[in-house]
Amino acid sequence: MATIAFIGLGNMGGPMAANLVKAGHTVTGFDLVPAALEAAKAKGVAIADSAKAAVASADAVVTMLPSGKHVVGATTGADGLFAAAKPGTLFIDSSTIDVASARAFHEAAKAAGHASVDAPVSGGVGGAEAGTLTFMVGGTDEAFAAAKPILELMGKKIVHCGGAGAGQAAKICNNMILGISMIAASEAFVLAEKLGLSHQALFDVASTSSGQCWSINTYCPVPGPVPTSPANRNYVPGFAAALMLKDLKLSQEAAETAGAATALGAAATALYTAFAAEGNEGKDFSGIIEWIRTRADET
Ligand code: NAD
Repeated sequence: MATIAFIGLGNMGGPMAANLVKAGHTVTGFDLVPAALEAAKAKGVAIADSAKAAVASADAVVTMLPSGKHVVGATTGADGLFAAAKPGTLFIDSSTIDVASARAFHEAAKAAGHASVDAPVSGGVGGAEAGTLTFMVGGTDEAFAAAKPILELMGKKIVHCGGAGAGQAAKICNNMILGISMIAASEAFVLAEKLGLSHQALFDVASTSSGQCWSINTYCPVPGPVPTSPANRNYVPGFAAALMLKDLKLSQEAAETAGAATALGAAATALYTAFAAEGNEGKDFSGIIEWIRTRADET
């Protein structure tokens, strides 16, 4: 069994660390927030006095932090985790961060003699708790092979997407599709309402025709057709609009840097920005249909 350090024990990191404990690993964790430390401790995570102390004797380190600046800030530099870890430690960053920061994380890890993967997830807090996350992994074949057995304890699907940063690239491309498709589905349901078509009728057609997609078939933005979708519980997340907006913004940063034309990605980013700015950050992202319906009523 390995000694694993887990840095960032928040909504996602807490339950992910707990699954490593359940599998029999020795897990030492650290977070800046005392309540996160307490919750992790209750699930069998040993709490270190600092992130550096947590990684000092670890074979592998998982980071699950808010953004690229947190990951690069915590790991790099003379006072960072790469300097504090034993040479040859495996670093797994599962945070969702920008591709440029992910590449900087890999370069600094390599310079310090460590193996590294970027391994962002989809599946949300429910997936983190159930150990059913999907991991999208970027890194060398060797680093992927070393990370896979650890990731398998926290997820059910582990995809090697390519070299450094490829996991983050896959994550933001996927979530750009999701943001656009949820707006498309919402606009179609609102148009159907105006045309006197029932939600169930549009669902029955679109979910089995060329309009079918996850946003309709699995996460339908109107109540009724898919009983498990957040629309049936007043858009309690699920996947909060603030997180969708974060991922859309990352997609637009990446598109600008890479020179990709993403007109619909830009439009989705603008619509989620407006939706979030009206106090909806904490709502499920499929709640954008209510905002679209209000706008339709205004025209
Ligand atoms: P969170 O805010 O609940 O947890 C992040 C934790 O990191 C916090 O507890 C914070 O105190 C801690 N932290 C920040 N800087 C630190 C440092 N230097 N050292 C130690 N701890 C530090 O966020 P979350 O929902 O757990 O998300 C984590 C990452 O996973 C984000 O990048 C997010 O985009 C991504 N993600 C979240 C979800 C979701 O549904 N919540 C789904 C997929 C991906």
